[in-house]
Amino acid sequence: MKQLWNDIVNLFYPRLCILCSRPLIKGEEQICLHCLARLPYIRYESQQRVDSWFAGKSEIQYARAYLHYEKGSSVQRLIHDLKYHGNKELAYLLGRWAFLRLQAEQSPLCQAEILLPIPLHPKKKRQRGYNQAEWIAKGIASVLSIPIDTTSVVRQVKTDTQTRRHIYERWTNMEEVFTLISDEALKGKRVLLVDDVLTTGATFNSCASVVDGIAEIRLMAFALAQV
Ligand SMILES: [Zn+2]
Repeated sequence: MKQLWNDIVNLFYPRLCILCSRPLIKGEEQICLHCLARLPYIRYESQQRVDSWFAGKSEIQYARAYLHYEKGSSVQRLIHDLKYHGNKELAYLLGRWAFLRLQAEQSPLCQAEILLPIPLHPKKKRQRGYNQAEWIAKGIASVLSIPIDTTSVVRQVKTDTQTRRHIYERWTNMEEVFTLISDEALKGKRVLLVDDVLTTGATFNSCASVVDGIAEIRLMAFALAQV
C-alpha cells in the first residue's frame, strides 16, 4: 500500500536528480545513475598523493578522498547542497556510497573501529542545525556497523592571550582549536576522522593532534580540493 502511494505521489510530484533535474526512477536516490557514473571519482592510484600530504606531519596513517572538488563542478553543487541547503540525507548517502566502494576495494579505512566526524564549532552547528561531517559518518556507519563519536573531541575558539588584544583584532585573530574532552572511547582504537572537504589538511592535522598517541588515526574526506 505504501509503495502504491509512493508511486502515485511520484507520478504527480516526481523526485528529480539534484544534478541534472531528470525524474529519478525506482532505486535512485537524489542523484540519477547517469550522473552518479559521471562524478569525478579519485582513482585508487592517485590516492597515494593524499597519503603523502600527511606523511611525517602527524600520526595519520591513511588518508583517502572520494571525489575531486573543483569550482563550478557537480561536486561543488553537492557540497553546497549538504552544507547550506540542509540536505542531510545527501550527506548520509554520499558517506554510504563512498564506503560501499571502499569496501569493494578492501581499503584499510574499512578496518576502522570508531568514526570521529570533525566537530563544528557549537555556534556554527546551531546556525546550520547539524554537522554535515556527522551525517557523512552516519552513512559510513551504515556500511561498517561501527559507532560514531561526537563527544570526545570538541571545537572551541582559542581564548588565551586574547584579553590584551583590541576587540577588532580579537575577531580577526580568532583561531579555532580542538580539545580532547575524554580519551575513554578512543583509547587504543583505529579511529577514522571524517570531513566533507580536504583542502590543505590543516583542520584534519589539528584535530588529529589531540588524539595523537592514544589512537591509530586514518582519515576520509568526501572531496579533495586542489590547492
Ligand atoms: Zn542526474
